[in-house]
Amino acid sequence: MTESGTIRLLMELRGQGVSDMSVLKALEATPREAFVPDELAAQAWDNTALPIGCGQTISQPIVVGLMTQKLEIDKRMRVLEIGTGSGYQAAILAGLSRRVYTIERHEELLRKAQVCFDKQRLHNITTMLGDGSKGWPRQAPFDRIMVTAAAPSMPEGLIEQLAPGGIMIVPVGEGTWDQKLYRVQRLDEGYESEAFLDVRFVPLVSDGTHG
Ligand code: SAH
Repeated sequence: MTESGTIRLLMELRGQGVSDMSVLKALEATPREAFVPDELAAQAWDNTALPIGCGQTISQPIVVGLMTQKLEIDKRMRVLEIGTGSGYQAAILAGLSRRVYTIERHEELLRKAQVCFDKQRLHNITTMLGDGSKGWPRQAPFDRIMVTAAAPSMPEGLIEQLAPGGIMIVPVGEGTWDQKLYRVQRLDEGYESEAFLDVRFVPLVSDGTHG
């Protein structure tokens, strides 16, 4: 990809509120073209969501930037991602944290994402095939959780897998048109949450539902 495409996108993301330098650097360092189908490589640095197969999409770069920034990660943290998809978001998180655990229910997508992680020598990502709506109890608690598919309601079971003070970013909403991104923080007792962005994600599909 041309240098100018990368710079244009980074300027656009800055203009739309991504101000954290470490997040901007991670976006710059992660080759988005490696995570999209070959025929879409020319659009990889456009600020749009793109299809990745199995009816799923790689998120729009501005949404990746704003979600990552809101997660307030640092290099000591263990992060759980739900919805590996192309693996792009996991690769960004891997550069900013100690270890990323990521769960995907489509085997074909997970296999492709794993190939990308290996090629880019991202050795601090652990993957699992399965239903991520239940989290990953054996690896909990996590310092941070990012959910990249829309939950029908606030997933309280996942909040229990956050360490005290831990932060989760999750899109919540029943339909395609009424989802909001929430920042959730686990407190010593209970949690607090605030919505900060209108979004459109594919649904988080639990065992027993279809999608
Ligand atoms: N983070 C991805 C975007 C993913 S799109 C990226 O950077 O490309 C959402 C993904 O969540 C899809 O791949 C979908 O298959 C997956 N998904 C939906 N419900 C899930 C569930 N219950 N468990 C695990 N993955 C799920």
